[in-house]
Amino acid sequence: MYLTAAGIKQLTIIDNDVLDISNLQRQILYNEMQVGKDKVESAKIVLSNLNSEVQINTYKEYIDKDSIRKYIKDHDFIIDCSDNFQTKFLVNKIAIQYNLKCVIAGIKDFYGQIITINPKKTACYQCVFNEPDKISPEEGPLPVIGVTPGILGTLEALEVIKTALGLPNLENKLLMVNLVDSRFNVIDIVKNENCICSK
Ligand SMILES: [Zn+2]
Repeated sequence: MYLTAAGIKQLTIIDNDVLDISNLQRQILYNEMQVGKDKVESAKIVLSNLNSEVQINTYKEYIDKDSIRKYIKDHDFIIDCSDNFQTKFLVNKIAIQYNLKCVIAGIKDFYGQIITINPKKTACYQCVFNEPDKISPEEGPLPVIGVTPGILGTLEALEVIKTALGLPNLENKLLMVNLVDSRFNVIDIVKNENCICSK
């Protein structure tokens, strides 16, 4: 919503989900009238009404290692807004492979973390987090306080704007957000020479 309001030229949204009433606790792009409808279609209507000059492309599809490649063309930046580790590691890998800048954020209840990646130059997501050998898809959703993804999502939009403007961003830094104690801590990180981003 902030990127559209800011007048970013083009935004491509990929999501295979249908709006459930339980999503409204945190996904304030949507409203009760849209429950049961495709999220990408509802998002397109809301965002186009917000700023008609932004081109909004939407695709109702799950992101996986095959589908993600067709959306990379003609884009400058990937914003991970996913709710699972598989997608975050995949986005990181694709960003490195295609040399696309990206921002990845994760949340759980009152906590979040966010990192911005410039593949050729900076540490990547996998420099910081080890990809688990196996991630069970049956782990179920993590608990979420609705404000947490709002704050982390807003920070992701800020990273896109600051990166585009050449302002200091979260490259080589991991921002840890603790909303219980209202603390924001930045940890300096370094590129791992044995990581996929260094090969
Ligand atoms: Zn790396």
